[in-house]
Amino acid sequence: MGGRDATMVLLDENGIRCDGRKVDETRRVMIRAGGLKNADGSAYIEFGDNKILVGVFGPRDVHPKHMSNTDTGILRVRYHMEPFSVGERKNPAPSRREIEISKVIKEALEPAVMLEKFPRTAVDVFIEVLQADGGTRCAALTAASVALADAGIPMRDMVAAVAAGKVADTVILDVNNEEDQAGQADMPIGYMPSLGKITLLQLDGVLTPEEYKKCVDVGVKGCKDVYELQKKALKDKYFGNGGD
Ligand code: ADP
Repeated sequence: MGGRDATMVLLDENGIRCDGRKVDETRRVMIRAGGLKNADGSAYIEFGDNKILVGVFGPRDVHPKHMSNTDTGILRVRYHMEPFSVGERKNPAPSRREIEISKVIKEALEPAVMLEKFPRTAVDVFIEVLQADGGTRCAALTAASVALADAGIPMRDMVAAVAAGKVADTVILDVNNEEDQAGQADMPIGYMPSLGKITLLQLDGVLTPEEYKKCVDVGVKGCKDVYELQKKALKDKYFGNGGD
């Protein structure tokens, strides 16, 4: 949550948001499985104006070797924003925010990936944010799950993600950049729909207990919709006319 701009109309008298959406509506989502020839698995997502590419490599040998685990495989995640992905050029060096989001996404993916099947190896997930517009961690987590499945990594489920939040004292689904900057709360949620388990839940802002519960309900419902698009992306690549 950035500085709160009191002059921005985040929700008009008809319940329409600053980008024309209803309160329970996500932005347009497009997911494509595959596309990177040199990766073991990959995915591209457009979530509103977010554009993110994910490449997965592995399971493969761990370097440096002392990082490997004889009992299980390890997951490594790098979330990186291109300098041109935001309005004002971003320093290409990894920021504290990117290091934190890499960790958050790794921990949100770990319950889904059967790493125990690949002791001593690593699965690397590289996330490149080409264009950012609020909600990149959720869009990246969603695409990373598809890229892992595309790589043939055994998984318990895919993680679908979307943020719920609050603007003008109203709970909303899928927080965009303006709503993140000027709104009252942002709650990114990652959810495994087949297992019914939440693997990511963060909260920036203040909510009443009722609003908190409503955000979780709205967010989980949004994740279920995103999950259908993840499955469709994989089906299109492997059984349909999409993919490479
Ligand atoms: P998320 O992208 O998961 O919502 P944040 O809440 O940290 O994560 O960021 C919200 C949005 O702020 C990003 O999606 C992006 O549009 C914008 N943003 C993040 N970092 C920068 C930056 N260094 N410069 C300009 N805008 C940024």
